[in-house]
Amino acid sequence: MSEIAERIGRIMERIEALRPRGDCRLMAVTKGQRWDRIQAAIEAGVRLFGENRVQECTQKWAVRPDGLEIRMIGHLQRNKVKYAIQVFSGIDTIDGETLAEVLDRHLSRQLSVMLEVNAGEERTKTGMLPTAVRGFLETAGQWQRLRFDGILAMLPQARDSSLGESKRIRGLMQETAELWRICQRERWPWAPLVELSMGMTSDYEWALEAGATIVRIGQGIFGPRQ
Ligand SMILES: *Cc1c(COP(=O)(O)O)cnc(C)c1O
Repeated sequence: MSEIAERIGRIMERIEALRPRGDCRLMAVTKGQRWDRIQAAIEAGVRLFGENRVQECTQKWAVRPDGLEIRMIGHLQRNKVKYAIQVFSGIDTIDGETLAEVLDRHLSRQLSVMLEVNAGEERTKTGMLPTAVRGFLETAGQWQRLRFDGILAMLPQARDSSLGESKRIRGLMQETAELWRICQRERWPWAPLVELSMGMTSDYEWALEAGATIVRIGQGIFGPRQ
């Protein structure tokens, strides 16, 4: 599995080159991956992981090494909430009042969450529209057990490798980062918003330039999904 360690090493070099202040972390996205491959990532030093499904997380991470953070980055169905809060360190896909309400009701402690934003306003994607974010966060103090630690941005996939496409996606990333900073400046006690989770295998270098504090990488670490 040294291949996985090598890929992680190369990604870490890019992160360190673009963010010399060390203010961005690597999240390894482990959906569809076998445990031995995940273990290789842990051995290579990764401490932050993203899973997309509650059941897969329960099976894979039931017994986990100390010091790891496993966050939910897939769409969370309401009927899975009570299992999700048992296995995840945080839920990064709050997309509206309904889910916030159900989560808050099931919790007996504080939980770290992020607001999922549909940055490209795509119909096929989940997440809140950028225009609704500020108003939502302003009232998010009503869910006393949720602490909004950040924004998770969903970006469109580039349709091709043209300059126009890269400009469009980078523009959306800059706008999302600006929205994140504006909300951060509000200093809502329930929303410290320290994290901007943005960028995947194909576009993480742009996200690093735009200010992401977490990049979420799956295939770039583990190779193509089975
Ligand atoms: C799968 C997934 C990723 C990782 O995508 P890769 O292209 O494999 O890097 C990141 N974020 C979310 C929400 C995902 O579902």
